[in-house]
Amino acid sequence: MDRLPSFALHRPTNLADAAAWLAAKGARPLAGGTDLLPNLRRGLDRPQALVELAGIAGFDAIEDRAGGIAVGAGATLAALARDRRCSGAYAAIAEAANAVAAPAHRNAATVGGNLCQDTRCVFYNQSAWWRAANAGCLKRGGTVCHVAPQGQRCHAAYSGDLAPALIALGADVELVSVRATRRVPLAALYCDDGAGHLALAPDELIVRVLVPDATPAARSGYRKARVRGAIDFALAGVAIALVVDGATIVELAVALTGTNASPFRLEGIDALLGRDADDARVLAELGKLVTKQARPMRTTATAANHRRQVAAALAQRLLRELAVAPPSGATS
Ligand code: FAD
Ligand code: SF4
Repeated sequence: MDRLPSFALHRPTNLADAAAWLAAKGARPLAGGTDLLPNLRRGLDRPQALVELAGIAGFDAIEDRAGGIAVGAGATLAALARDRRCSGAYAAIAEAANAVAAPAHRNAATVGGNLCQDTRCVFYNQSAWWRAANAGCLKRGGTVCHVAPQGQRCHAAYSGDLAPALIALGADVELVSVRATRRVPLAALYCDDGAGHLALAPDELIVRVLVPDATPAARSGYRKARVRGAIDFALAGVAIALVVDGATIVELAVALTGTNASPFRLEGIDALLGRDADDARVLAELGKLVTKQARPMRTTATAANHRRQVAAALAQRLLRELAVAPPSGATS
């Protein structure tokens, strides 16, 4: 990696000032820096200014709200993972936060940074000289995608762990810029394009994530496959939110990461409602839905088909595991 390029650094202490600094052309938000700074050192971007969010008062608050939980975008993943609210119906949040990188990263890395992290590809997350030797690629500085040379789009994979957990739980995000404040479903923040995966204006900030109330009988979880268990991005990651009556599936939401250019909610699972979670045919159908909708490409050193099959197996195992888990309201 090279040295960091030069940039101006702004350190606002309130949201209005942060939004004002971000309105300037070439400014980027800086949260924990665990994704952005390595990318800058690889020459993947050259912002004129970074707007550090850590000093914004209340930006890291995690609190109960009418209708659910509000998680400040500046909350660290370590704080989120140990928050008492992230258990039972919300266990997927803590499991996903704890699955990110290593403890030192989680102490600095934030919710907003995790949701907005860049997509990844073995041809992209390389030093400037390595990429130059390959004449760059569509995502940066080149005209060809080395993964799918016949196509005209980038297939770099979104690999954040938190997004699928929050999408499965039906979370919204609140966005702020100098122009407006808006609230959108988290799933709508992502586009299926590895070179432009965020439906976020350059000057827009995620301020908080709003996770809706869950029924007391709900349970959720997150599982991820990676090359190195101690620290690694997801080859595939699956989050499930579930309500069962006995073994019968009453509510089910499944979301994936690591396989496509965006995290996504699995479609077609309504066909599984009212059926037994441990029925082999139900699990087979779930696996089929995953292998159909997960579209990993040759963006990692691990074979794409392996990632697709692993995603299906993770979803099947997690559904079975959650179906037999005690409901969140139960005491042991
Ligand atoms: P930053 O690096 O500060 O920012 C990331 C991006 O988000 C930047 O583009 C920044 O401008 C933007 N941004 C930050 N905050 C906001 C906001 N509030 N609104 C709008 N935009 C914002 N990630 C995983 O998910 N799973 C892993 O297993 C994992 N492993 C890693 C291993 C290593 C060795 C490293 C270096 C990184 C790893 N990461 C992993 C990536 C990264 O650590 C995490 O995604 C982390 O949560 C990023 O958060 P951050 O606060 O450091 O973001
Ligand atoms: Fe580049 Fe293609 Fe990889 Fe995208 S998928 S980063 S365009 S090589």
